[in-house]
Amino acid sequence: MDISVIVPLFNEEESLPELTAWIDRVMKANNFIYELIMVDDGSKDRSWEIVKSLRGQYPAIQGIKFNRNYGKSAALNRGFAAAHGEVVITMDADLQDSPDEIPGLYRKIVEEGFDLVSGWKEKRYDPISKTIPSKFFNYVTRKLSGIQLNDFNCGLKAYRLEVVKSVQVYGEMHRYIPVLAKWAGFSNIGEQVVQHRARKYGETKFGLERFVHGFLDLLSVTFVSRFKKKPMHFFGVFGTLSFMMGFFTTLYLIFNKIYCLYQHMPVREIVDQPLFYIALVAVVIGMQLFLAGFISELLVMKNDHSNDYLVADVIENEVTTEGPVEG
Ligand code: UDP
Ligand code: MG
Repeated sequence: MDISVIVPLFNEEESLPELTAWIDRVMKANNFIYELIMVDDGSKDRSWEIVKSLRGQYPAIQGIKFNRNYGKSAALNRGFAAAHGEVVITMDADLQDSPDEIPGLYRKIVEEGFDLVSGWKEKRYDPISKTIPSKFFNYVTRKLSGIQLNDFNCGLKAYRLEVVKSVQVYGEMHRYIPVLAKWAGFSNIGEQVVQHRARKYGETKFGLERFVHGFLDLLSVTFVSRFKKKPMHFFGVFGTLSFMMGFFTTLYLIFNKIYCLYQHMPVREIVDQPLFYIALVAVVIGMQLFLAGFISELLVMKNDHSNDYLVADVIENEVTTEGPVEG
C-alpha cells in the first residue's frame, strides 16, 4: 500500500462526501493504492452514517468511531495505529486542506527521503485572532525545539510509516508531532507550502483555550522529552545551586558575627539581617528541589518503560532453518 490518509473528524457531516470524492480522484489520477482512515471523534451529527454510506462507493474507506469526543490527538493516535501505507498523510476533514497536495507530499517522503513533511499555510484564510497568536507559538516552538518549521500545527502532514508507529500523541500534543518525532530520533523534517482555504462548512472546534492548552503542552513536551529519563539533571542542578548559595551565605553571616564580636565592632543580631532570611529560604528551596529530583529519579527507575529505546538496527547471526542433511 502506498498511502494511508488519516482524517480526524468531529461533527463534519457536510464536508465528508466532497472530501472523500476529492481524495479518491487525486489517488486514482496518480495510480496510488491507498486507504482512507476516517476517525470519528465522537461526532454528534450524522458524520458516522455518512462515513458508512460512503464506504459502499469508496471501498478504500476504513472507519473508526470513538464512543465520545476524545480530541484530535487521540483520533490521530488511533489512526496512526491502524495505518499500513508506506507514507501516512494526515488531513483535516473541513476541506481547509487540499487533497491536491498529496502527490507532492508523498514524493518528498519517498524520493527526497524526509521522515516527516509538514504543510505550511503560508497564506492563511483564518481570522486574525488565530493567525497572530499562531505566529508567536511557532516562534517559541522553533526556539525551544530547534526544529525550523513555520507552521507546526498544520493539519496536513506526511510521515514515513515508522515515524507514526514510534510517536505517542496524547492530550493535545497533535500540535507538536514534529517535536515528538524529533525526540524519537526522526530529525529529517521538511516543510512544504500548501494551499489553505477558508472553512466551507461547520465551525472551528478549538476556541481561545487552544492558546492556554497549547502553551502548557509546549512546556511539557520540551521539558519531558529533555528530562524524562534524567530528572535529577534538572532539579539537581537548581537544587544544589540554591542550597550552596544559602549555605555559604549562612557561613558568611556566622563568621562575620564572630569577627565583629572579636573586634568589638557594633553588630546586628543575625535574625535582624534580611540576608539571613534569604539564606534560610535558599537552603530550604534547595533541599526541596533536590528531593523532587531524587524522587522523580526513583520513579523513573521503577517505570517499566524507562528502557523503551527505539532500536534502529540489529545485527544478529543468521538462523538456518534447514534440518540436518541426510545422505
Ligand atoms: N477534530 C477532532 N476532534 C476534536 C476537534 C477537532 O477530530 O475534538 C478535527 C476536526 O473535525 C477537523 C480537525 O480536527 O477535521 C481540525 O479541527 P478544526 O478545523 O476545528 O481546527 P482549526 O482548523 O480551526 O485549527
Ligand atoms: Mg480547520
